[in-house]
Amino acid sequence: MNKQPILNVGIMKSTHIEFILETGYRVGTNMIPQGNYTIELRKGKMILQGQSFLTISEEEIKLLPIFRTNSFVLKDVTIGIDFHWEQKEDQRFTGGIRFFIDQDAIQVINTIHLEDYLKSVISSEMSATSSVELLKAHAVISRSWLIAQINKKKEIAGRHSGFDSQTDTDLEHIRWYDREDHHSFDVCADDHCQRYHGITKIISSTATGAVDDTIGEVLKSQQEICDARFSKCCGGVSENFENNWEPLHKSYLVAVADKEPLGTSPNLNLTQEPLAREWILSSPKAFCNTTDEKILSQVLPSFDQKTSDFFRWTIQYSQEELSSLLKKKSGIDFGSILRLEPVERGPSGRIIRLRIVGNQHSLIVGKELEIRKWLSDSHLYSSCFVVNYEEIEDGIPGKFIIRGAGWGHGSGLCQIGAAVMGEKGFTYDQILKHYFQGARLERIY
Ligand SMILES: [Zn+2]
Ligand SMILES: [Zn+2]
Repeated sequence: MNKQPILNVGIMKSTHIEFILETGYRVGTNMIPQGNYTIELRKGKMILQGQSFLTISEEEIKLLPIFRTNSFVLKDVTIGIDFHWEQKEDQRFTGGIRFFIDQDAIQVINTIHLEDYLKSVISSEMSATSSVELLKAHAVISRSWLIAQINKKKEIAGRHSGFDSQTDTDLEHIRWYDREDHHSFDVCADDHCQRYHGITKIISSTATGAVDDTIGEVLKSQQEICDARFSKCCGGVSENFENNWEPLHKSYLVAVADKEPLGTSPNLNLTQEPLAREWILSSPKAFCNTTDEKILSQVLPSFDQKTSDFFRWTIQYSQEELSSLLKKKSGIDFGSILRLEPVERGPSGRIIRLRIVGNQHSLIVGKELEIRKWLSDSHLYSSCFVVNYEEIEDGIPGKFIIRGAGWGHGSGLCQIGAAVMGEKGFTYDQILKHYFQGARLERIY
């Protein structure tokens, strides 16, 4: 059996950080006692000090736990960065801490055993009222995804060419966001990777039990550990991997109709505009087509519950709002916006490439997350939408009605759909095999 990996989680970056060691730690061979500490960046040096401890470094300071359960509290960690619920809170962590200088700030890393990290992630992402099968499914995909990311990082480090996630021409701006953004740690603590708010929220023995029950269990497709993705709500059909991220086909991340019979391809071709429009404007049968608050509360932590209209949603912009928003987000002055035209849709109906037509400039933008960023102050729920134009004067719309489906990229497991499946009595392996085509479960440590 292999040993479980230790993860490097990027928690925060600042020039001044306050923290509390709840137990003694070790720095090299020196003991550092429990108590309050600050670490500051001054003239290119990190100065870490407490009541009876001072150390200065230009490179890296590592605080090692004496026992695996040793813990510390970081003050004022920002959570929900760029989301409507962005806020600051104190967070408690177990394991070690690393500090190093990264672009004029101190980067804080938590070094933690993968299974300990998972318990926290499952507790943060899910509610304690979730069904056991849903929690076990989540534990397996989070574990698979993490190990796949660590493996991929090693593979990229071996490549000389680096990694490209953006192409720009005069006509097109295509960008995707994956965790290649992180060079100095494995995962970040925010929704970009997996929401990780330390151990403050480990209150659920069901969540920790689900991790223990599935210890070392991952999803595999042939010999590969699955890069198992998930999002809040697929909208009825899940999306192919390559339409959201790098152009690689993954046989286990392909479109699935989120309903019974399990694991079947969609019977509607939503890449076709008329069919996509009809689909988005309807309320089709799907596991994730639910308004059951008891089920929704399982996957939406309290600060997300304000928003329950994600299976089908509507937003409106005036001409002025949309043109200034696009100018702010893209840095391009399109003039008055005339049309938002889908150029390419994926099998879930998500727009992969969108042509923005203004009276001064036109450009195609992609992929889904870039579209969502450009069309909202934070993030549009999804890129699966259709646009209606109203109050048209001299060919210029005064109002844009955007109607959409789903929340998130829609690849892999649909959290709302999986919660409904759990309530219906499906087991975690049935849930996983439904969303990840041809994948199997295997214990690797
Ligand atoms: Zn990240
Ligand atoms: Zn779904």
